[in-house]
Formats: sequence, structure tokens, C-alpha cells
Amino acid sequence: DGPVSQGTTGKGINSFLALSRDRALAQAAKVDAARAAGQDLGPLAGVPIGIKDVLTMTGSPATAGSLILKGYLPPYDATAVTKLEAAGAVLLGKINCDEFAMGSSNENSAYGPVKNPKALDRVPGGSSGGSAAAVAAGFAAATLGTDTGGSIRQPAAFCGVVGVLPTYGRVSRYGLIAFASSLDRVGPFTANVKDAATMLQVLAGKDPLDATTSDQPVGDYVGALAKPVDGLRIGVPAEYFGEGLDPEIRAAIERALDGLKSLGCTIVPVHLKHTAYAIPTYYVIATAEASSNLQRFDGVRFGHRSGDSKTLSAMFKKTREEGFGPEVKRRILLGTYALSAGYYDAYYKKAQQVRALLTRDFLEAFESCDVIVGPMTPTPAFRLGEKTDDPVAMYLADIYSVAASLAGICGMSVPCGETAEGLPIGVQIMGKHFDEATMLRVGQAIE
Ligand code: GLN
Repeated sequence: DGPVSQGTTGKGINSFLALSRDRALAQAAKVDAARAAGQDLGPLAGVPIGIKDVLTMTGSPATAGSLILKGYLPPYDATAVTKLEAAGAVLLGKINCDEFAMGSSNENSAYGPVKNPKALDRVPGGSSGGSAAAVAAGFAAATLGTDTGGSIRQPAAFCGVVGVLPTYGRVSRYGLIAFASSLDRVGPFTANVKDAATMLQVLAGKDPLDATTSDQPVGDYVGALAKPVDGLRIGVPAEYFGEGLDPEIRAAIERALDGLKSLGCTIVPVHLKHTAYAIPTYYVIATAEASSNLQRFDGVRFGHRSGDSKTLSAMFKKTREEGFGPEVKRRILLGTYALSAGYYDAYYKKAQQVRALLTRDFLEAFESCDVIVGPMTPTPAFRLGEKTDDPVAMYLADIYSVAASLAGICGMSVPCGETAEGLPIGVQIMGKHFDEATMLRVGQAIE
């Protein structure tokens, strides 16, 4: 099992849930044989990569961090998994995450929390905390995560690695265990921006197995990095620098902006005026979609089934009572409420209307700038246990991430220094729909 399991147990990070030893060794042998035969090797030949446990990969259980799927063996590979392997990647195994990707700290996993490799008393962020931690600890060269309302970008910021949220429709969701289908996206974690561009190049594109993928041509992400950034207009949203922003983070973002200015970029003040409504809007829409998506876990079709019930409906209830953790139950209740007759117009429909306004904010801002730059998180990584008793405080940690999710635009987090205590700080770069190339260029200029 090599350095991965040693590292995991050695440091107690708890990032990997399962190692796909046979599959990894078979793939490594295949890459070696291709190299020996002088064949063309893919862009990820031999690169060790870990997969968030909400994506399916045959031969390894797909738990989504939940007891309800404990030991569940999926019958097919997610498209992202297929594409990585076709590019030569060696897939190491499945990575810990918040249950059904619901959380901001990776403390909602049924398989125990993940620790932040940069500070072991701190959370790695979530829900893809294990994916960020695995790259930060050097267990994998890259990992896959998913981002519904910040779950790639926020843990990347907390762990000091690069995390990319591709535009909605850019990367296939086929084989992703759904949380909120209109928001869920698959994307990479890497140690640097060039690796992120390489990963996105492999992952992006139309997939006949996911009707929401776009046939927009895939950009030349790696090639774009060679272009200088001078002349680019950097939008800076006043709403992202308000009360509650940690002063050390503010200073680090300002330094990053000064760096861009010295490279010839123009700083353009912009307004995203509905920002204050992003969190309530997100938590209505995400929970509504989750309550619908999670109906399928009924003890009949997948995973856990409660043993001793006399009727079918008692079995449904007991299975869900035993299988789902408290945060998942909270969200099913919230989402069911928002969708119920009599409340639908006041909550779900209203949230969809505000979602349109939040999207319009970005489209208007992008009329005067090429990318938008701001803080990724209001604070650095918080302590394990600090927010577990207060779900609203946990939701508020998503303040800078959920608007881009609702708008469908692309975003990324790039390390831009650390606090006096040595905790990583991430800067967020948001790009226009399908303009990952410009976003990555700016990311590399900051790095
Ligand atoms: N923290 C957010 C939530 O709990 C985002 C999760 C995600 O992006 N998967 O819903």
C-alpha cells in the first residue's frame, strides 16, 4: 500500500477511506509497458490521483461518507474517473468527505473527521476536505473533489492547495452521487496551477452520459498559461471585503491585487449587490434538491437495509433513521419544507428568483472586467469541533463561495500566503462562464 497508507496512519489525517491497490498496480503496469514499447503516453501517465468518495469507481466501495452506503459497490465508473485513467493516471483509492458532500469542515463524515495537514487541530474545510488534505500532505499529486457551494475552493484555501470549480456543464457529473443537481460540479485539487490546468484539460468536455454537459469547445488551458496577464481587468467586489473578513486575509488579498497591478493588470471596482442573499438562497435551493435526490436511499435499491421491520414503510423509515447522519436529516427536513405546498412560493420559488438576480450581478460585473478577485474564506481554517454545535455558523463560513455556485460561473482558490500562525490563505478568482483559461492565467500570475 506504500506511502499512502503509511502517510495516512502516520499523521492520522484520515483522508483515504479505501485504497484501490489492484486497480492502481494494474494501471501502473500498463503505463510501464506503454513506456517500454515507446508508445505515446497520456498527459497524466503514472500520476497518482485520489477520488472523492461521492464519485463511482468499480472495485472500490462508494460511500459518499454515509453509513447508508457503507460497503456499496458501484457497477460503473464515473466519467471523470474513466477520463483520468484514459490519460494514464494511477488511481489510488477513495477519499473521505462530508456525508453526501454536505458540510464545510469534513466533520460530517460517518467515517470520522479529516485533519488539516498544515495544522492538525484544524479542519481541512469541506465537503472535499479529504481531497484537499491528501494533496497538502503529499499523499496524491492530484485529487478529484466536488463543489456544490464551495466544497472544492474552500478546503483548497484551508489546506494551502489549488482547487478549481469548472463552469457548470464543463465536466461530466455522470457517476457522481447527486447532492444538488443544478449546483454539483466535479473539479481538481493540485499543488499548483499548471497541474490544475492539466487536470481540467483531461476532465473537460461534452459527455453523452450527462445531458447537462456543454458542447462549447474545450479551451487550451495549459497553453493559456504562457500568455502574460498585462492588460487584463481585475474586478474587485466591495461586498467581499465587508465586516467579518479576517484582517490577515484582507491584507493577503490586497498584496495579491498589488502583485497583479505590478504585472500590468487594471483593478476595476465592481458591485455584486445581492451578495447578502447568497447564503439563504443557496441553503433553500441546495436543501430542496437534496431532499429530492436522497429519496432514492430507501433500503431497497442501494446499500444499508434495516433488518427487523414488519412493513415496507417501517423498513424505509428505519433504514433512513439508521443510515443518515444529523446534517443530512436536517437538510432533508429543510428541503422538504421549502418544497411543500403552501411554502413553495415563499421559499423555493423566491430563492430561484434571487438566484437569477445573483447571476445577473456577475454578468453585469463581467461587462467591465475579465475576472473577479476576492477572498475565498472569511477566516482561516477553524478548530475541529469549533462550529459543530452551530449549523448556522457553519453555513456562514460559505459566504464567499456560494454566489459563484448559484451563478454557474467558474472559480478557483490559489494559495496567497499564510497567517502569522502559519495557516494557509487562499485568494478566489472567478471567471466568466466557460472562460477557465483566463481564470487559470490570473491564478498562475498570483501563485
Ligand atoms: N458547505 C456547503 C454545504 O454544506 C457546500 C457543500 C458543497 O459544496 N458540497 O452545502
